Amino acid sequence: MKVIIVGRPNVGKSTLFNRIIKKRLSIVHDMPGVTRDVIESQAQWQGKSFTVMDTGGVIESGDYISQEVRKKVIQHLEKVDLILFVVDAKEGLTAQDQEIAKLLYPYKHKTILVVNKVDNKKSNLNAYDFYTLGFDEVYFVSAQHGKGVAELLDRIVRDIPSEEQISTAGGIKISFVGRPNVGKSSLVNAILGQERVIVSHIPGTTRDAVEIPFTYKGTSFILVDTAGVRRPSKVEYGVEFFSVGRSLKAIELSHVVCLVLDISEGVTRQDKRLAGLIERHYKGCVIVANKYDLVKVPKETVENIIRKELYFLDYAPVVVTSAIKGEGVSSILDEVLEVYSDYTKQHKTSFVNRAIQNILKEKPPPLYRGKEVKVYYSFQKSTAPPTVVVITNYVEGWKENYKRFFIRRLREELKLYKSPVRLELVQKE
Ligand code: GDP
Ligand code: GDP
Repeated sequence: MKVIIVGRPNVGKSTLFNRIIKKRLSIVHDMPGVTRDVIESQAQWQGKSFTVMDTGGVIESGDYISQEVRKKVIQHLEKVDLILFVVDAKEGLTAQDQEIAKLLYPYKHKTILVVNKVDNKKSNLNAYDFYTLGFDEVYFVSAQHGKGVAELLDRIVRDIPSEEQISTAGGIKISFVGRPNVGKSSLVNAILGQERVIVSHIPGTTRDAVEIPFTYKGTSFILVDTAGVRRPSKVEYGVEFFSVGRSLKAIELSHVVCLVLDISEGVTRQDKRLAGLIERHYKGCVIVANKYDLVKVPKETVENIIRKELYFLDYAPVVVTSAIKGEGVSSILDEVLEVYSDYTKQHKTSFVNRAIQNILKEKPPPLYRGKEVKVYYSFQKSTAPPTVVVITNYVEGWKENYKRFFIRRLREELKLYKSPVRLELVQKE
């Protein structure tokens, strides 16, 4: 990811550059027009790294930009992912700012207008002139005092996938989590022992887990085992010794988590805790109600109980099994395939926007401080999990229960019936 800082001389580009890279090395000078070349450096924010470039004195002072400089700048603009167009709130809008804005216009979709030198509320006043330049995203900062820089950095790294996001390259990563004795290893052994499952080679061991690759219906899977699920014999720990630590690791490393319950004991507090972890990590999930041979109620009743107790995992299909009798076991991987298909679905921006308009028409967010909460724009930023960004005028206007309703409806509209959806609200004035 590459970010470039452009703007006329003396607006504070190198001050901002130094803020972003957290160094105070390059010389900040008051004399406009001192020619410098493009400086490049690595920057980090929220554990994500990116390259930041300062065009320094490439654009010289004066109202017009020469053909030569124009070419030089355009070369850089083509290559970068994000452009920070810096202007000076103290000086106000100048003819040269407008010249540069024209130059940036073809790259409007990846340009952020940064109004610098907003040191206090007073200088805020002439800042609004800059909206006439026509850029959608505007940030107000004081590079010198560091004001507003954190928000700008949040925006810069927003689209960089976090390193924690696990790759979908090697296959579908699945794990079995649940309290001790619910039947995890019995289920895993039953699945890996199935004729249609081909365990391809000796398990690989990473620092955190044993990974067992296998193929089912032509699709590559990787079983992530952090708890020694396949151990033939093991020490019995009491429920009080059960730690969520290992389960947490397995959840983090998976795309789809199979949450195993011993349904003869109903849905316990520990089960709910694990379910909560899966939800909070935005993982796909299949709920496996095991030991069905021990209960005497219809499958529908089992499902109803689970739906009621684990209502927040409403996107997770339920499979009723008996590992001992080998019943229902083969449905687990079929459900994993369906969950994963939704989990990795990517929708076009036009489709997402239409879906969101439908929801807003049906039920808009309640007024926030007497004002309408609007959605300006939205798009699906990434998959695994499907993440939808909504640009709104008041992030705080989105209360928890409305968000819950909105996400549920969004899943319906986008036909992501079996996947969680992550909603990212971004504020724009
Ligand atoms: P560049 O030519 O665009 O790289 O601008 P510089 O970073 O060299 O800054 C030009 C001048 O503006 C310097 O005197 C800086 O100290 C000053 N400056 C930069 N940022 C701010 C700011 O946020 N507030 C104020 N008041 N001055 C700033
Ligand atoms: P884990 O600790 O979750 O891996 O559970 P195990 O697979 O080791 O199973 C714990 C105990 O439950 C063992 O005695 C299994 O034989 C038994 N068990 C596993 N699945 C079933 C099932 O579907 N029905 C019944 N009745 N017992 C089961």
